[in-house]
Parts: sequence; structure tokens; C-alpha cells
Amino acid sequence: MYEGAVQDLIDELGRLPGVGPKSAQRIAFHLLATDAADVRRLVDALTEVKARVQFCETCGNVAESATCRVCADPRRSDEVICVVEEPKDVVAIERTREFRGKYHVLGGAINPLENVGPDDLRISELMARLADGTVTEVIIATDPNVEGEATATYLSRLIGPMGVTVSRLASGLPVGGDLEYADEVTLGRAFEGRRVVGG
Ligand SMILES: [Zn+2]
Repeated sequence: MYEGAVQDLIDELGRLPGVGPKSAQRIAFHLLATDAADVRRLVDALTEVKARVQFCETCGNVAESATCRVCADPRRSDEVICVVEEPKDVVAIERTREFRGKYHVLGGAINPLENVGPDDLRISELMARLADGTVTEVIIATDPNVEGEATATYLSRLIGPMGVTVSRLASGLPVGGDLEYADEVTLGRAFEGRRVVGG
């Protein structure tokens, strides 16, 4: 539709999650009209995040070294692991200040329609963390939607027989949405009221 560089930018922006063709076009023209210094700051932020940020080798959370802040914190319990879909869910749960254990980030949820199966998630890494018997409870905090529920069911069947208590966040979270959309109080309550589903 447009020439060269402008169309390239629109195409790249359109690849981002949640950005449709109209939004991509609007952002591209916004950037065209923006001061060079402001655009440079955006470019620097993108470059920095790719250069500095990696994924924690233990839990899969975002980290600025091999281990994330939560895994490196000796005050946090090694006996409870909270399983979430994405690093942004760690942030949402940390905001509630209800949880003092460690996390495990799956990298998504089981979704047959998009060809995401258990092998595409960090499930074998989770099982490896449970192997030495230190962990006594796994709290499954996948999103309150179909994919999140399917993932929770799969995990509870897998982990339950290992003698580890498996719990799921209490209902009351906005159904069909992302964990991150729940406010801190609701999410905190769902945490406190978690119910045992296996083990
Ligand atoms: Zn970690």
C-alpha cells in the first residue's frame, strides 16, 4: 500500500500481538511524525531488552542474569512452586504480595487449535524440579480460560501421583480472561482460597 520503508514498518508492527493492520498504520504514522530523539529512545529500549534480558534457567521468568530475582532470593521458600503461563503473570502475582515461594513459567498453555501441546511448554523442566522431593505443593495459576483449564487438568494428573499437593486458584477470577486482568485484591483472595485438586 505504501512505499518501501513505511510499508516495511507497518508490516513489522502488524506482526506484534494485538496490533491489527489499522493500528500498525496508525503507529507507523505516529512514529513518522515523532522527533528523531524520541524514536531513538524506542530503538535503544528494543535493542537493550534483546541484549540484556534473558530467561531464568530455573523457572523461565525474565532475568538479567542466568537466574531471576525470585529464584535468587534465599528468603523465598523452595517448597512451593506457582505455575503460570507467562512472565507477566509472575508480575501480577507478585503485586498481590500473597506468595512467598518460587515460580515456574510454562511459556503458554495447551491449545490444540494453535498446535500447542504439552511438549511445547516447559513441563519437563517442571517435572525435573519436582524430582528431588523438596517441593511439597504446586499451585497452578494458569489463566481462567479454556486453555488454562486444560493445562491445569493435564498438570494435576501428571503431578498428583508424585505425592505433591496440587492446588488451583479459587474461582472468582474473571472467566475467559488473562490472570493479569484480575485486580490485586481478587487475585490475592483467589490465592488464599486455592483448592486442592490432586496429590
Ligand atoms: Zn527464576
